[in-house]
Amino acid sequence: MTRLILLGPPGSGKGTQAKALAASWHIPHISTGDILRQAVQDRTPLGLQAQSYQERGELVPDRLVMDLMRERLDQPDTNSGWILDGFPRNLAQASFLDELLQKRDQNSVEVISLEVPDEVLIERMHERGKKEGRKDDTDDVIRHRLEVYREQTAPLISYYRERQQLTSVNGNQPLWAVTAALQEVIHS
Ligand code: AMP
Repeated sequence: MTRLILLGPPGSGKGTQAKALAASWHIPHISTGDILRQAVQDRTPLGLQAQSYQERGELVPDRLVMDLMRERLDQPDTNSGWILDGFPRNLAQASFLDELLQKRDQNSVEVISLEVPDEVLIERMHERGKKEGRKDDTDDVIRHRLEVYREQTAPLISYYRERQQLTSVNGNQPLWAVTAALQEVIHS
């Protein structure tokens, strides 16, 4: 049973790696960024509330993201495990997740932090912006997302390290090498 949280700055390759691992282990890849982007595209009530935050590179309010995660983790496909990509994003979300999992007796969770230098992140996001046309992969928004990461998300690294749940992996390697490194450190 694998329950894995992939932590890392925007552009660190979390999404790509989470997809590869989820496919090889046959467990769901749960990306709050993907779910929110889809909701924006479908113009659902959630999407309409999330859109402006997402386009500015701000975190969508906790209340919305927590409701969405509570519902997602209630789906039966999560019984076999999961990989979270992009959640939790701040300490409030991390304690929310702790409580949720505790209530369900699902305490064994591993956390991987993907480490990538800033200049590589910026280059990768520019490339993705050109390729996928993501509205938040533009110069100003990229810079802001890195700030938001540093201020709000990076503290989760020490949070999980203190609880001895954290392993760091070098994300500045070819794709396949990162996948191999992840497979080596995760107890699937
Ligand atoms: P990502 O695809 O993970 O880089 O997320 C893209 C954007 O979606 C972020 O910049 C936020 O606006 C929003 N988002 C994704 N996950 C969360 C979260 N856990 N909490 C708040 N906002 C989020």
